[in-house]
Amino acid sequence: MNEIYNFSAGPAALPKQVLDQIQAELVEYGNAKASIMEISHRGVDFMQVADKAKQDLRELMNIPNNYQVLFLQGGASAQFSMVPINLLRGKTKANYVNTGHWSIKAIAEAQRYCQVNICTDSTVNQFTNIEDFSQWNIDESCAYLHYTPNETIAGLEFDFIPTADMPIVADMSSMILSREVDVSKFGVIYAGAQKNIGIAGVTIVIVREDLIGHALAKQPILFDYSTQAKYDSMFNTPTTFAWHTAGRVFEWLKAQGGIQAIAKINERKAHKLYQAIDDSDFYSNAVNPKYRSWMNVPFSLADSSLDALFLEKSYNANLLALKGHKSVGGMRASIYNAMPESGVDALIEFMADFEKHYG
Ligand SMILES: *Cc1c(COP(=O)(O)O)cnc(C)c1O
Repeated sequence: MNEIYNFSAGPAALPKQVLDQIQAELVEYGNAKASIMEISHRGVDFMQVADKAKQDLRELMNIPNNYQVLFLQGGASAQFSMVPINLLRGKTKANYVNTGHWSIKAIAEAQRYCQVNICTDSTVNQFTNIEDFSQWNIDESCAYLHYTPNETIAGLEFDFIPTADMPIVADMSSMILSREVDVSKFGVIYAGAQKNIGIAGVTIVIVREDLIGHALAKQPILFDYSTQAKYDSMFNTPTTFAWHTAGRVFEWLKAQGGIQAIAKINERKAHKLYQAIDDSDFYSNAVNPKYRSWMNVPFSLADSSLDALFLEKSYNANLLALKGHKSVGGMRASIYNAMPESGVDALIEFMADFEKHYG
């Protein structure tokens, strides 16, 4: 039987080594005489886990000292609320970039707190392109600018960081740790863990210190960055197991050579998959090549009546979860850090074989 490769968009595949490691640690963690899931978050064993994970992430992303790193709950979706709650700071408007599904969710939530100025809108090209930055309509009176560096569903990824005279906020859920990012260019970076960090439940928030302490009045205390920063993300019980798993993934990533090394592999994986798609008349991807995602590769078959057969055959060949999001249809291969290059090679081989038989 072929090796199993999981192309799920999220919750997504974990590195095999990490799965083996957390399995071994599940019943008895280190010297704790209990499972990592059974010990106090305030005890010395978990505190070490928490601090090490935070330090490793700081190292991996080269996070400057004037940023706090928080391990929160509520997913990226809770940040859709926490960003306006904390960053409006007396202003009434915010800039939002609409490049797809997750941008739209963030915008809808922000509109509950403030006026939203849409700087640019990729709806006009079905989220296959990003308008030239010089053409964007940025409102200088806004409190911040929010964008989604990688749109997970359409597979649309920025190759630049927008700049404006205000904090830049990025939902990096599906591209964090996939390539080098200059954290100092951002006011807030956030990411749910279940794509490229670990398991669902924990959400990483990297926030510049001057943006902490300005939350709107009468909001949930947990949604105030200053509460979370003051209590080291332990105002209440954190998601200990998800935090621990994230820490193991950070260690794994460091052992791979860090972000610089994994980025080279990610670029190569994505490039060869897009190349295979472009080289065939049977498969296609409509995204402007400049903005094609390294992490999520949607593609369609020339004859969509073959979709079900493609999914059945690929599943039987141990290539899992290739069904595209229902809003786009077709296929999507999510190839996060944990997807080995051999998985992409196996997919490309399968695709060529399928085309030969049915194309
Ligand atoms: C998956 C995803 C989300 C949603 O994350 P939750 O943790 O389910 O709230 C938000 N933004 C992006 C870019 C995503 O990929």
